[in-house]
Amino acid sequence: MGVTEIASVGVIGAGQMGNGIAHVAALAGLSVALVDVKAEALEKALATIGRNMERQVQKGALEAGARDAALARIATGTEMAALAQSDIVIEAATEREDLKLSIFRAVCPLLKPEAILASNTSSIPITRLAAATDRPDRFIGMHFFNPVPVMKLVEVIRGFATSDATFGAVSALAKRLGKTTAVSEDFPGFLVNRILIPMLNEAATALHEGVGDVRSIDAAMKLGANHPMGPLELADFIGLDTCLAIMRVLHEGMGDGKYRPSPLLVKYVEAGWLGRKSGKGFYDYSQDPPKPSR
Ligand code: NAD
Repeated sequence: MGVTEIASVGVIGAGQMGNGIAHVAALAGLSVALVDVKAEALEKALATIGRNMERQVQKGALEAGARDAALARIATGTEMAALAQSDIVIEAATEREDLKLSIFRAVCPLLKPEAILASNTSSIPITRLAAATDRPDRFIGMHFFNPVPVMKLVEVIRGFATSDATFGAVSALAKRLGKTTAVSEDFPGFLVNRILIPMLNEAATALHEGVGDVRSIDAAMKLGANHPMGPLELADFIGLDTCLAIMRVLHEGMGDGKYRPSPLLVKYVEAGWLGRKSGKGFYDYSQDPPKPSR
């Protein structure tokens, strides 16, 4: 037996991604149970959702009444028991496998037997997470992008045991949330990170080898390939530690030297120059406009 139509969504983790998922689900008319271990994270998430919806109202993209109705559909709590009525639970907690596994152990016995469990993980194999639950056929990857209300894509990742019914229900849900799906098999980096992050890593390698300087590399890809941001600028935006962590997942998972992390990228991370969030990465953000940092 499977859930035919999803009417209620549980979200575990009320950080950057969890608040965005709750935002789009509530606007789509679904009832949302948002759970986090930290009460402050829930307060902050509700404030963020309220602010982001207000921005949509100001832009004329959302009626104030629809905003109020959507906010009223979001319930928050620190107890997993709040997820007992959810047709699907989307896990968007901190990216640590042991943590995600302990969440699934705690939450599975509380869920409806037919409920679907999805993970928003960027890098942990869906098949491995699914195998540790009581419902590998009702387990799937649902990979949203930041900021969730703005980014149009959801990568849907089928684990080895994911059923067609689960895949169908989750694809329909993504569409209802206003997203377009790209279907990815469960291999390291899925599709977006598999293709994007090695390109950013290659930009760092080109910089390291002196093929071009920071400005030339970014101008080359912006003006020569019509990318909205240059690769070094984009790496700074994502966070150089995150880029490096994904390269390491690709390198280990594929066992192929072509995914070797750039030693220069490693050096920036060692220096604590992590990009925009630390004020300095390939660019120094203490100046406006930002200048190459070295
Ligand atoms: P975040 O640090 O902003 O939020 C994580 C939240 O999980 C925190 O509020 C934390 O309190 C909560 N949490 C930790 N342990 C918990 C537990 N046991 N139960 C409930 N909540 C718990 O992280 P994020 O950027 O929102 O990332 C969340 C997930 O989304 C990760 O798996 C990440 O890989 C993935 N992801 C992130 C991005 C991105 O650009 N940030 C994009 C796609 C996917």
